Amino acid sequence: MTATVAYRLTVKDEAVGVTVRDGAESVFTFDRAGRLFAAWLGERFYRRALSGRIVEKHTVREGPYRIAHRRTLDLREGDALLDRGAAAAGEAGDALGRGEAELVWSASVPASPVEAERLARSAAAFNAAAARADGRRYAEVYRPVGVLPPDQYLALVLQVTEGCHWNRCTFCAFYRDQPFRVKSVPELDAHVRNVTAYLGEGLSLRGSLFLGEANALCLPTDELVARLELIRRWFVPDGGPTRGVYAFLDVFTGRRKSPSEFEELRVRGLRRVYVGVESGDDRLLRLLNKPQRAAHAAEVVRALKTAGLSVGVIVMAGVGGDRFAEAHVTATLTLLNALPLDAGDLVYLSAFVEHPHSDYERAAREAGIRPLGPVEIHHQIRRLREGLRFGSRGPRVSRYDIAEFIY
Ligand code: SF4
Repeated sequence: MTATVAYRLTVKDEAVGVTVRDGAESVFTFDRAGRLFAAWLGERFYRRALSGRIVEKHTVREGPYRIAHRRTLDLREGDALLDRGAAAAGEAGDALGRGEAELVWSASVPASPVEAERLARSAAAFNAAAARADGRRYAEVYRPVGVLPPDQYLALVLQVTEGCHWNRCTFCAFYRDQPFRVKSVPELDAHVRNVTAYLGEGLSLRGSLFLGEANALCLPTDELVARLELIRRWFVPDGGPTRGVYAFLDVFTGRRKSPSEFEELRVRGLRRVYVGVESGDDRLLRLLNKPQRAAHAAEVVRALKTAGLSVGVIVMAGVGGDRFAEAHVTATLTLLNALPLDAGDLVYLSAFVEHPHSDYERAAREAGIRPLGPVEIHHQIRRLREGLRFGSRGPRVSRYDIAEFIY
């Protein structure tokens, strides 16, 4: 006997979901241009980047913690997933045409089965071959995107700058092969035109704007103002409310900005700034070759808050291995608890990933530092969480798994 297959199409302003139930349940999610960007198959979750990379994630219990395991699919596995998603969308579109699929409409425009079928057809066209062509177009409009904060994974990245102005932290390999470069205003204009044309209807998935790359906010304020005004003309031509603008800031690059300079950026759309504090322990910061001290980080965060901006503070758990574990936790909690953070802010606890052959690995090995294992890092994250004293009106505290990032 053949099992009955049930289909559901979920249409939202930003995305289209296809659910297939044939004994098990599979869910494929596409942007409105039809690009597959997520799938759940049983216990396994998949995310596809615009670059074409697909990462599979599942969690396994180890001691008291659930440890995430991730891997990048090889070409054959990726193609199979893409073809499976496209086939599911095609079958769901056919079933909808026959009146045999459930339609869940939560978009702001009135429900329309014809529109839902059109969206299903464009997802059905996004098979492995179409995805490869899309990945090639992506590579024409973007330089590699190194990393974003977790709440910005679905941002529209605008590469105001490329690379990292400093590029010498011992633990960081994000931009090693990419020289720092600032795009002129006309170049940025062309870049925004290209990325919006590339994304097409898929732009609706991108709820915020992120100024790439590592430290775009190191530019002088007048140069940033010119670029934010250009961005505003692109995305808010009628002068209405803008999608928020977000960016990283390091504590040491460029001239330090005053609260009134940050305020100039806020009135032009800047909403939240992410600061890589990493640790409150100055000795550990020296090992990382991060030319900042904890006190500088606190001053910068205060200036941002005075300007009315929201802040995302990032600290690493496990960095400095066994040698620094105690001092790192104690000094980082002292620093964090002294910051004027509130409910609009974020604290990210990022599990340290040691890159093989990095300057950090070499320095740590020479100093006889033992790296912490996954369970010890989880334990450190728990200590950091439990040591925060902000109360119920404090910042949201979340994990930051950089290994999960793809764009
Ligand atoms: S400033 Fe940030 S992006 Fe640049 S090298 Fe250091 S950690 Fe990496």
